[in-house]
Amino acid sequence: MRSFSPAANRLLQSLTLGLIFLIPGFGAPPGQAGEKTMTSEIALVKSPPAASSNRHYVSNRPPLAPSPLVKLPIGSIRPRGWLLGQLQLMRNGLTGRLPELSRFLKEGSGWITLKGPGWEEMPYWLKGYADLGYVLRDPGIIATAKKWLDLAFRSQQEDGFFGPPDNRKNRDLWPNMLVLSCLQSLYEATGDERVIPFLTRYFQFEHSLPEADLLPESWQKLRGGENLESVYWLYNRTGEAFLLDLARRIYQRTADWEADIVSPQRDRAREISGFYHGVNITMGIRYPAVYYQQSRDRKHLDLVEKNYGLLMSHYGQQPGGMFGADENIRTGYGDPRQGAETCSMVEFMHSHEQLLKITGETRHADRCEEIAFNSLPAAMTPDLRALHYLTAANLISCDRSGEHDFQNDGTLVSYDPWSYRCCQHNVAFGWPYFAEHLWLATADNGLAAALYAPSEVTAKVAGGAEVRISEETAYPFGDYIDFTIRTPAVVRFPLYLRIPDWAGEAEIAIDGKKLPDKLLAGGYAVISRDWENGDRVRLSFFPKIAVRTWEKLGNSVSIRRGPLWFSLKIEEEWKRYGGTDTWPAFEILPASPWNYGLVLDPKSPEATVMLAGRKQPAEQPFTAEAAPVILKARAKRLPSWKAEGRMAGRIPSGPVVSAEPEEEVTLIPMGCARLRIASFPLVAGK
Ligand SMILES: [Zn+2]
Repeated sequence: MRSFSPAANRLLQSLTLGLIFLIPGFGAPPGQAGEKTMTSEIALVKSPPAASSNRHYVSNRPPLAPSPLVKLPIGSIRPRGWLLGQLQLMRNGLTGRLPELSRFLKEGSGWITLKGPGWEEMPYWLKGYADLGYVLRDPGIIATAKKWLDLAFRSQQEDGFFGPPDNRKNRDLWPNMLVLSCLQSLYEATGDERVIPFLTRYFQFEHSLPEADLLPESWQKLRGGENLESVYWLYNRTGEAFLLDLARRIYQRTADWEADIVSPQRDRAREISGFYHGVNITMGIRYPAVYYQQSRDRKHLDLVEKNYGLLMSHYGQQPGGMFGADENIRTGYGDPRQGAETCSMVEFMHSHEQLLKITGETRHADRCEEIAFNSLPAAMTPDLRALHYLTAANLISCDRSGEHDFQNDGTLVSYDPWSYRCCQHNVAFGWPYFAEHLWLATADNGLAAALYAPSEVTAKVAGGAEVRISEETAYPFGDYIDFTIRTPAVVRFPLYLRIPDWAGEAEIAIDGKKLPDKLLAGGYAVISRDWENGDRVRLSFFPKIAVRTWEKLGNSVSIRRGPLWFSLKIEEEWKRYGGTDTWPAFEILPASPWNYGLVLDPKSPEATVMLAGRKQPAEQPFTAEAAPVILKARAKRLPSWKAEGRMAGRIPSGPVVSAEPEEEVTLIPMGCARLRIASFPLVAGK
């Protein structure tokens, strides 16, 4: 649970009483004195107000709960810098060229022939691939995506069902749920007029299903919340009453994600339940909050937060925002060496994006960024041409041996473009969806910088004026963000800047003039003022080197600085073992020692952990060589901490005594490290 400082709490309490917090002494307008009178206001709020609806962008339609934050149409946000780099690498890498590799995207696919089978793989890929095209404004990708979607349109039957006929035979709606997301994006990006009637007919089909045939079993039952979101999406555009009835039925027929996500009862049933599958958890955990929009019962939001806490306290005692589920969460397997599936990373990021829009609360953005910056990059090779199934906070060998204590046997951590069927397709939507959520419209006709990355947004604010805001930053590797506002005329609107939980204190300067007060973490700083063309805002953070102690895991420690967690830099030996010359598969083996404990005082880590190097992020900053932020720390080898097979041994309980000499070690951002020790034993004696 996020905790506000007492001062922030007092401020928030005063705000809930309807007071506006004015920073004294602030408000002198930029430009020529006396040109016009402007007032400036800044406040700290937990979430944007949701009393009204944004007048420019489709928001929740009554009786659904009002939306504090609203997605902008795809294409409104243009990524820049390192984020654009990821998307361009995707275009030239696995996602952009997957039809060369995947047998599920070849001529025999049921999504092409409209005969026989055709399950989740094609739509998993298309969901990310098409959005990649819209975000990059790439005509080639957009045209190819349209060909696939044209086939889906063509497949619609008299009663509204669509897709390969085997899915109908199996009463399986799951693969279609993914296509629904693709169609929503198509509509948002291009306004394709076929989408609304197509979805309406499909939901009429779903509504006509007898209860027993609506989400009867299996993945679709566990993942019904995806379908639910699409029903709300359409309802907000058409207002047809049957959709809310269908939504209620879908939620009732979806597996129960309100119950405690980890419990003795589920521990006993885990082999058969599907509730312990990592990917299902990352999706299902948000569904009560999705239904909250209709129930308007606060308990549905509280249950999600309760379950997030339960999950992370049992299996998420590790840096990087993920939890150990090397297929399923498993009792007794909470060590940071247990991996998280790549699918679960992109799905968890998406759940946080959805929760951010539903609640407006910044903690969901913090959680999304934590995965995006620390876990997702290491799931792929730096050229984004290969990936692996499992990534762990402590992962000392990405080999193909299978000598790892994971639930599944076989190759799971080597990097291979030809393998890992679901992740190979599903990884595609991670970065494009992240880019689509950097900026959100607020209910009070302003804009929120919700997730931070270099970008530019063009959007309507206030009464309809179109503004363009550029966001220049090296974040998450840099400590400040520069916003420049472009507007054809002076316009007054609220600009919400997220102050992440880790920030402690932050500072804002407008047109070079610092605000006198520091802002406290965990909420938004809202600047409501008359904005002029060329106005500049700088948001500065002052991240400290911090230690998180994992008490449940032998008092092991992890180091963070701002949004980044840090890993021991382990020399990587890359060995090609398969694939083709164009699409090779690699093992990465450790070429330097990994079994270090850190020598530090968790209460004052800055005495032994130092910032040792910084550089501007390259197009691909997530490599060991390109790491834009480097720390040095004091450490000792721990000879008793040995590999088990190719896996690091379970982390020893600390403080650990070591007779080895103290050494200086290099720490790099976890997202830059494919071989990693990011949870360390604490060495005794300091
Ligand atoms: Zn997967």
